[in-house]
Amino acid sequence: MNVIESRDCGPCVSCCAFFNIAELTKPAGVLCDHSTDHGCTIYADRPKACRVFYCAWRCWDAVPEDWRPDQTGFVLGGRLAAQNFLSVTADPARPEAWRADPYYPMLRKWAREGAAVGSSVVVFMASRVIVLRAEGELDLGEVGPDEVLLRDPDGQIRKAPRNRPY
Ligand code: SF4
Ligand code: SF4
Repeated sequence: MNVIESRDCGPCVSCCAFFNIAELTKPAGVLCDHSTDHGCTIYADRPKACRVFYCAWRCWDAVPEDWRPDQTGFVLGGRLAAQNFLSVTADPARPEAWRADPYYPMLRKWAREGAAVGSSVVVFMASRVIVLRAEGELDLGEVGPDEVLLRDPDGQIRKAPRNRPY
């Protein structure tokens, strides 16, 4: 993963709080016990999920400089064209922050651009999922642990039961 050298995490610990880390049995929305003001206390031995993750602000120069996740209230993951997917994981304390200016207009712009190349912009508000489409929003509601998100051949995202051959 190539990161933008001029951008570092600084005081942001959003990804250590917003996501679940299965290897640590850490639930989403709770700051990891290993996170301190001085960084990760198990940095050398941190789980693979932590080793491989950089948010889009760290590695995609289309994301504006002042969109560091602790400032925006959401973490962007993936990349539109490169990974066919851009996720928006909301801060549980500010779940609607992504709807504010200037974020929402840019997210909708990326949704329109993504639709042209078969990519999706998907917002995660805890277990609630909203797909941003070129023409508007598709609220998938709650996606439970027994469900998964699938992409249809036409590029549309939908939820389906886990472990079923669709
Ligand atoms: S969300 Fe991004 S900027 Fe914040 S700590 Fe994680 S990788 Fe760093
Ligand atoms: S192990 Fe370290 S890098 Fe991983 S979530 Fe916890 S504090 Fe963050």
